[in-house]
Amino acid sequence: MNDDILTLPRRVFSPEHDAFRDQVRRFVAQEIAPHHQAWERAGVVPRELWRKAGDMGLLCPTAPEPWGGAGGDYLYSAVVLEELAYAHAPGPGFAIHSEMAVPYLVNFGSDAQKDAWLPNLVSGRSIAGIAMTEPSAGSDLHAMQAQARRDGEGFRLSGQKVFISNGQLADLFIVAARIAGDEAISLFLVDAALPGVRRGRNLDKLGHHAQDTSEIFFDDVALPAGALLGEQGQGFRYLMKGLARERLTICVSCQARAEAVLRDTVAYAADRKVFGQPLSELQNTRFVLGAVKADLIAGRALVDRLLQEYVDGALDASSAAAAKLWVSEALGRAADTCLQVHGGWGYMTEYPVSRVYADARVERIAGGSSEIMKEIIARTLWPRR
Ligand SMILES: Cc1cc2nc3c(=O)[nH]c(=O)nc-3n(C[C@H](O)[C@H](O)[C@H](O)COP(=O)(O)OP(=O)(O)OC[C@H]3O[C@@H](n4cnc5c(N)ncnc54)[C@H](O)[C@@H]3O)c2cc1C
Repeated sequence: MNDDILTLPRRVFSPEHDAFRDQVRRFVAQEIAPHHQAWERAGVVPRELWRKAGDMGLLCPTAPEPWGGAGGDYLYSAVVLEELAYAHAPGPGFAIHSEMAVPYLVNFGSDAQKDAWLPNLVSGRSIAGIAMTEPSAGSDLHAMQAQARRDGEGFRLSGQKVFISNGQLADLFIVAARIAGDEAISLFLVDAALPGVRRGRNLDKLGHHAQDTSEIFFDDVALPAGALLGEQGQGFRYLMKGLARERLTICVSCQARAEAVLRDTVAYAADRKVFGQPLSELQNTRFVLGAVKADLIAGRALVDRLLQEYVDGALDASSAAAAKLWVSEALGRAADTCLQVHGGWGYMTEYPVSRVYADARVERIAGGSSEIMKEIIARTLWPRR
């Protein structure tokens, strides 16, 4: 942030990252922040924004150069996540696209698959989503029922997915399903324009109102042989690998959103008078916001350390789970405390704190719930021999 509320220097970013941050900040200030409330009412952001963001290099910053990417490290991705968060602009589903869906194509796709999709995904001409969750299979992904049966050279895909982010906009879904006769899960690249791919309604949510989240139906969709991503039956392994990046992404965003809400609340408390004095002079305000700051300093130290681990190729699943648990819960605490300091105004949607509060709630559920994070961490306490 410009005026760093945490006063804890960051050492992970280089001058090149900082220069990129300036560009991203200007783009967010001009192209996103002024329109975000209108997009919240619309329930979706315009496709045009994606094209502009792609042209500015905000999409898939880590995608390889031969396919139009900048080939940057993950810290460039973190810059985009943070700048959206500092501006209270969680609507554009760039993180789902760039950090959660496209990396499967980059890491496990063939050159032909990358040729077909990646340049347009980088430029924002195409939008991606990841479709794992089903009505009866969320935390327990093994319970999924989506099935692809072999049909000549290709497949026929049937099933239903739910809570799919970018569900209304996406042109490409990375879909997890079983190939008939195989217990193991496989991943498929599914073109949303294929006959039999049906989008359900844009689901009405507690928060993240500008982000489209949908059911997706696959009605006997004919997929070409080239739709299989990576090797048959390796889907679960790929997902577990991808989920560490997904969780780090959630952490980076949650941490920055918590910093932004503390920044706003500190300013509000200095301005608001109660009983003839600024709210910031009351010991309770000083104590509760001091405690939030302490939480967020710990969060920043953790996030920056994990960013470095990830860039070095050393981030393990259990550390990503621990950080996701800690930072998403810290965001929830920060948003609740900051809303209370705002009093009734904090409950009014015109104050960003109300939206941060509502938006924060899902972070303890999506990308693996807090309970599942604890289970992943606990497995390291009693490792199987
Ligand atoms: C806004 C939003 C966006 C999403 N975007 C996507 C997306 O783009 N793609 C996608 O595939 N999915 C997406 N999801 C789905 C999300 O990942 C799931 O909601 C999440 O994994 C939890 O699954 P569930 O909702 O089925 O809850 P359930 O699995 O039914 O869990 C219900 C409760 O039981 C608890 N629980 C479950 N198992 C255990 C256990 N073993 N021990 C203790 N407690 C347990 C859970 O923690 C939770 O509190 C999204 C969800 C939301 C809300």
